[in-house]
Amino acid sequence: MIRVDLHVHTMYSFDASIHPKTIVDQLYAHPLIKAIAITDHNTVEGYYKVRKLASAYQDILIIPGVEVSAVEGDLIVLGVAELPPTPWTVENVIDFARERGGVVAVPHPYRAYGLGDSAKNYDVDAIEILNGRAGPHINKLAENLAKAANLPGVAGSDAHRVSQLWTAYTEVQASSDTDEILKAVRKGLVRVASTRKSIHF
Ligand SMILES: [Zn+2]
Repeated sequence: MIRVDLHVHTMYSFDASIHPKTIVDQLYAHPLIKAIAITDHNTVEGYYKVRKLASAYQDILIIPGVEVSAVEGDLIVLGVAELPPTPWTVENVIDFARERGGVVAVPHPYRAYGLGDSAKNYDVDAIEILNGRAGPHINKLAENLAKAANLPGVAGSDAHRVSQLWTAYTEVQASSDTDEILKAVRKGLVRVASTRKSIHF
């Protein structure tokens, strides 16, 4: 089993401030979490910076990702280190991810820019049922959505600032390998967990 924070922003997101080096240093030092997905808003630049810095360390894994501002709502693509072509409709982003073997997760469906109930209408792989920056009620709604859609539930801190890192993570039944982790997410071999008592799910 590996613990993965599947939703992390770097300073390459327009609204985030975390330096890639801070992410790598903290991930390396973290007692539990040993893998992360870099999911900046509409850019993969931060991912490449983090990956480069992380290559000097063993035992940590950086999964490529992006949080795409699709017109209908946000989508996270995991396992793909490039941006989809525009227009960024949900259907187009999903097609793009499928062609490249990526996993599509719906982040914070009931927060601002979330897909809400309409997530059920799309061929996505997972729902983020524990978001480190969403309240318990919002996360509970997301968990109910995942159950109704019969989709795996995943977790991530959605950190935009250093203090928000590692608050929520996903326990994945896989080794430290991106393809294995993505495969396990698709199969639902996942469990969400929090390092903060204030987050309930
Ligand atoms: Zn985010």
